[in-house]
Amino acid sequence: MSNLTSKLTEKSAAELIQIQAKGEANAETITKAFLEAIKAKDPKVKSFLLVNEEAALATARSIDLRRSKGEKLGTLAGVPIAVKDNICTKGIITTCGSKILEHFVPPYDAHVTEKLHQADAVILGKTNLDEFAMGSSTENSAYQTTRNPWNLECIPGGSSGGSAAAVAACEAPISLGSDTGGSIRQPASLCGIVGLKPTYGRVSRYGLVAYASSLDQIGTFSHDVTDTALLLNVIAGKDDRDSTCTANEVPDYTANLEVPLKPFTIGVAREYFAGGLDAEVEKSVREALDLLKSRGATIKEISLPHSTYAIATYYLVATAEASSNLARYDGVHYGHRSKNHSNLIDMYSKSRGEGFGSEVKRRILLGNYSLSSGYIDAFYLKALKVRRLIRDDFDKAFADCDVIAGPTAPTCAFKVGEKSSDPLSMYLSDIYTISCNLAGIPGISIPCGFNSKNLPIGLQLLGAPFSEEKLLRIARTYEKETPWHLKRAQIS
Ligand code: GLN
Repeated sequence: MSNLTSKLTEKSAAELIQIQAKGEANAETITKAFLEAIKAKDPKVKSFLLVNEEAALATARSIDLRRSKGEKLGTLAGVPIAVKDNICTKGIITTCGSKILEHFVPPYDAHVTEKLHQADAVILGKTNLDEFAMGSSTENSAYQTTRNPWNLECIPGGSSGGSAAAVAACEAPISLGSDTGGSIRQPASLCGIVGLKPTYGRVSRYGLVAYASSLDQIGTFSHDVTDTALLLNVIAGKDDRDSTCTANEVPDYTANLEVPLKPFTIGVAREYFAGGLDAEVEKSVREALDLLKSRGATIKEISLPHSTYAIATYYLVATAEASSNLARYDGVHYGHRSKNHSNLIDMYSKSRGEGFGSEVKRRILLGNYSLSSGYIDAFYLKALKVRRLIRDDFDKAFADCDVIAGPTAPTCAFKVGEKSSDPLSMYLSDIYTISCNLAGIPGISIPCGFNSKNLPIGLQLLGAPFSEEKLLRIARTYEKETPWHLKRAQIS
């Protein structure tokens, strides 16, 4: 890789915008640098399922042409971006990491994809994920296992592992992911970058292939908080095609980012520092809290008593919704159709049997079970009641606190294969991220250090509904004082 390439690819989106404004490099040069980085590193990292080289270069060239004519350009003009492969891109295969959608070419763009085009971003390609976003390591992808750029023997987290690793490996400056139970924040934490899950309803889910519709939300990955704000500005806002997407005003998230919030109160939940938390992770998180305290924060110990039920509740709600959402892949409406079948029922069962991987099948079975007559009251409906209690815990906490801070994940990145045969231990990776989705609130993970093996650690900040602006300002207050967001993984 040339010097210019590594210099450009280590920049943030905000810096790439500046570089173009100053005429130091144009969109084509920048796009070529990232494409070259993908060619050099992705055979090892395996972030991308598809790289759209020609379209990316064509977009970049047209942006340069329009700039040379003095035309007004979008806010992300000439900034390359990677998109998780469960977000529809018109005319470009969108597999969801599943064999069942191996040949699916969406006839339309997701709302966020349209927004990226309007902002003149350059879409580099589609990134790997756990099949239908079900997983925490990207090992459930039907195509490949993405590696952690900080240690290629480790997983990058999941399910948006491809999008997280692409940014951490400097193969894209920013990317989009989706978060149903932690799939943005957990991989961001494990890859040493910033990951934001916005409030449920902040970003349209139109064109996001549904996993669990009441929990799914599209969000962002970036090296720093400023880029998160820039990208959120582009994707947030009302869209009539998603009835759960709200008309709440979208502030300019970059406007007050440098203005520290003072005074502010950070809630520290007892339950987030309980058994199972790695000692080195705890140490870094506590140091981050001390730093915020020295910058004007009041630290208040709180309790989220129902968070102990979050994982059980999530695996009832999410699987119930998934079993219903995934019914459409029957080889007729959507998806792979088996070639050797004897009748209609046989065709359904063989198509689904061949097309879905084992984790997806496990979840469809779980979901159908908890929804079936005789069990629905004891499982699914009970879970909905506990979900309400989890939300009530947060409402109470936010009456006194601006944010709740804690670890994003209980451990740093683990080795490929370490947890893949033990679903329960894999499910526990999301112990601190899941209740945020059940409550519909926003959450961000920001880098807060490294362990003794040079693996990144993430600090999670949770906020009240639609408090993204405050969340980002507090995150920026911390980031400004620390070096973590400036570190870049070197891939040998
Ligand atoms: N790991 C969780 C799951 O497997 C969350 C995934 C996600 O947020 N998409 O369901």
